[in-house]
Amino acid sequence: MSAYDELMAFQRETEALAQVAGRLGWDQETMMPRGAVDQRVEEMGAMESVLHARRTDARIGDWLAAVDERALDETGRANIRLIRRSFARNTRVPGDLAAELARVTSRAQGVWAAARADEDFAAFAPTLEKVIALRRQEAEALAEGGDLYDALLDDYEPGASGAELEAMFAALRPRLVALRARVLAADIPPPLDQEFDEAVQMALSRELALAFGYDLDHGRIDKAVHPFSSGSGLDVRITTRTSARDPFNCFYSTIHEVGHASYEQNIDRAHLLTPLGSGVSMGVHESQSRIYENQLGRSRAFTGYLYGKMRDAFGDFGVANEGEFYKVVNRVQPGYIRTEADEVHYNLHILMRFDLERALIAGDLGVADLPGAWNDRFEADFGVAVDKPSNGVLQDVHWSVGLFGYFPTYTLGNVYAGCLHAALGKAVPDLDTRLAAGDTSPATAWLRENLQQYGGQRVPRDTIEKACGHAPSEGPLLDYLEAKFGDLYGV
Ligand code: ZN
Repeated sequence: MSAYDELMAFQRETEALAQVAGRLGWDQETMMPRGAVDQRVEEMGAMESVLHARRTDARIGDWLAAVDERALDETGRANIRLIRRSFARNTRVPGDLAAELARVTSRAQGVWAAARADEDFAAFAPTLEKVIALRRQEAEALAEGGDLYDALLDDYEPGASGAELEAMFAALRPRLVALRARVLAADIPPPLDQEFDEAVQMALSRELALAFGYDLDHGRIDKAVHPFSSGSGLDVRITTRTSARDPFNCFYSTIHEVGHASYEQNIDRAHLLTPLGSGVSMGVHESQSRIYENQLGRSRAFTGYLYGKMRDAFGDFGVANEGEFYKVVNRVQPGYIRTEADEVHYNLHILMRFDLERALIAGDLGVADLPGAWNDRFEADFGVAVDKPSNGVLQDVHWSVGLFGYFPTYTLGNVYAGCLHAALGKAVPDLDTRLAAGDTSPATAWLRENLQQYGGQRVPRDTIEKACGHAPSEGPLLDYLEAKFGDLYGV
């Protein structure tokens, strides 16, 4: 066997084990009996040490040194590029630092949850300081003299830089703040005001998943407290949730996760259980979930179809016609919480987290000053004062578990979705007519053909650029938001 074949056989087994570990995580959130937690923690810990040992196995270095890249095709070279990258990152971080990070962050989540329940930031501050210090150490090991934040960001969005995102976000912020102010001055329709049977919600969400091309022969839908998708290749599962008074929570969580899952399901089967066989970055992944959920799922055309489906399922629910329904689905309202934010507010939440976490990692902002910095920025962009820490700096789990550099990929995903949607509109002129009939296939086929099938083959930026025909930029997202909400609210 050539060095390449030996390396790929070893890699394939590692990818298979990683899928098993992922399925344990899926099970924990959906099926696992409550009393099994302690055992599951050990099971997952054991899987993690097996995976860590394989990912840092010295033989990978030997195989990589022995591979003759000139003899490989494009796929082979892409595999080697990704294995080389992951091996370098895994071996640069000292084992005791990795273990310490795992220990501290697993405890930190509990400390954060208790501090949030008690509205007591001071109780969380020492733990957050410890997490930041360890992540900075890790970044120093990874960056080799480069920018620390960029080294962390690279885990989630390979090739992106803090400076490039700063410029993109600086262009987004003033137009979003202005749009928000215009929209909130207009008349906002009331939300739905009745209960919707939760079993019927699940049945309709399954229909929606199928309408968006989700493959139930290679997936399944279950309920979870926080919806997620899990797995890649032939077994890609999603979860959703129901809320009696808010069926949109169920429907749009489902469509969002179907976007993530379709990306994984539609990667070229030749890449199964190889480094190319899963989504290329968090930002590109989020572009798929967002374009399914927002640009397609919350469009005037598709909500017209959904209105009919909801009338069939629930009878008269107090919304007179498709036009009113479109407004209710896209209701804009001020709020403190990122995960409940509408399309107009969402990116403003991310922009402030990006600036704050970058300052924390750079050492320009101390943990003691974080709540004040948060509250000042929130009031500047959202026009309201934060009333309590659970509505402010303590609302997200991310920083407690060490996720620094992750937040910006949410907005990057929205920016990418804006670019893809503009390109899709040109490629499929009758898109709205088809969406109005509940037929998303021209859109999902275009995304599969131009983006999803490639998996990890192209680097994230190229993945978007080749699909859209131009480098990603914030312009199309801003144009889309201003046109959509300007039209909806007559502003
Ligand atoms: Zn998502």
